[in-house]
Amino acid sequence: MMKNNNDSHWSVIIVGGGIVGAGIFRDLSKHGVKTLLIDKNKISSQTSKSSSKMLHGGIRYLENFDLGLVKEALTERNLWLKITPHLCYKENFLIPVYSNSNRPLWMILVGIGIYHYLSGQISKLLSFKSRSELKKSFPELRTSDLRGAGLYEDAVVDDEQLTIEVVEDALHNKSCDVLENHALKSLVKKGDRYFLTVYSGEQKLELSCDELVFATGPFTDYLLQNLNCFPWTSKLLLSKGSHIWIDKKSLTLPNPVVLTPNDGRVIFVIPYPDKILVGTTEVKLDGPPKEIKPSEEEIDYLISNLNEFFSNTTITRDQLIGSYAGIRPLVKEGSSDLGNTSREHHIYQPDRNVYVILGGKYTTFRVMASDVASKIIRKMKRPYMPHLSMEPFKSEKKDPEVL
Ligand SMILES: Cc1cc2nc3c(=O)[nH]c(=O)nc-3n(C[C@H](O)[C@H](O)[C@H](O)COP(=O)(O)OP(=O)(O)OC[C@H]3O[C@@H](n4cnc5c(N)ncnc54)[C@H](O)[C@@H]3O)c2cc1C
Repeated sequence: MMKNNNDSHWSVIIVGGGIVGAGIFRDLSKHGVKTLLIDKNKISSQTSKSSSKMLHGGIRYLENFDLGLVKEALTERNLWLKITPHLCYKENFLIPVYSNSNRPLWMILVGIGIYHYLSGQISKLLSFKSRSELKKSFPELRTSDLRGAGLYEDAVVDDEQLTIEVVEDALHNKSCDVLENHALKSLVKKGDRYFLTVYSGEQKLELSCDELVFATGPFTDYLLQNLNCFPWTSKLLLSKGSHIWIDKKSLTLPNPVVLTPNDGRVIFVIPYPDKILVGTTEVKLDGPPKEIKPSEEEIDYLISNLNEFFSNTTITRDQLIGSYAGIRPLVKEGSSDLGNTSREHHIYQPDRNVYVILGGKYTTFRVMASDVASKIIRKMKRPYMPHLSMEPFKSEKKDPEVL
């Protein structure tokens, strides 16, 4: 994606081309607002391509009674399943329960029932698999002390590509543009306008805008404190999560399995046509997000949990075919317990024409984007139309000469 518009002044500039910035870009574009999206790397090259790749309500957040959040995320999951079926699909997730599991089988089944109800019942309720059924379909799964399993429906998404296509859809509005590989390095306010200096290597570009949005996810505290243009106290609780890919032949998996080790974490094991995704870890990060890659301890942790739950085989590092890590941009809320920190999003306005959006999760990006876009559009005294961001992507017009 290239910038092809030579304008330097924009109604809105969005810094950060992950899924959140992409969503805001598309919503503003659909409202006809002249918007520029900039990223210091490629679009969708950071957190938004490093998730567990699920569009989900987050069944475990039921325990925190975040029912509204779970329902909202399930509604969004259903929307994207409908409008981008080429990028996401439903899967049946299996939660095996053992006699020493943290949550008993009845609790898992009740949770699945509530989850199903909150999802608006578009899917059929799948809830129980007996020990003998599991033995047949998941031959490597440990059967000693196995009580049975709960089964529920969620979705798997191509996170990187969805972000890219959200941006591409926004570019149908010719007054909008994208600037990749340009890092915002300095920011000055003059009158009501913001003046940005962005760099691509040594090359410098000056831009200005009326409204400025930061959708820089886990990089936000570090960036805003360095820009030093308005007061900003750190708001993020950074939590690294790592995944590994293992060889498809390592396990027989008709569908994804959710492992629930006794340390309280949740590990998803998701089969793909050619490999299996395993993750994630949760490690608190202190200091700025720098080199983001899985540590040896995290890889060992994931492999040892695989061996604990799939004890009828042995997984070794030889089966490892890849790995990646990302940083959750969680917002501090008193508690430092990463697992229990809410995935709600927050919008801050450190100045009247600056919007900083933090928290949330991939699944709810459209709602997050709409909260920012609606503020900007209403400030422009234009009507905000929430249905526009629910429309399917525009298909490319075929050039008749090429046909
Ligand atoms: C391990 C893990 C698993 C997850 N799994 C799921 C899941 O299965 N489902 C789900 O719904 N959510 C999941 N999430 C959460 C989800 O991935 C994130 O909430 C979401 O991707 C954050 O997107 P973002 O746009 O805020 O951040 P990012 O994608 O990180 O985008 C921020 C962008 O800002 C850019 N930037 C930074 N500084 C500058 C600068 N100075 N100038 C210009 N650009 C700059 C960066 O290059 C980056 O592209 C997971 C997160 C993690 C870490």
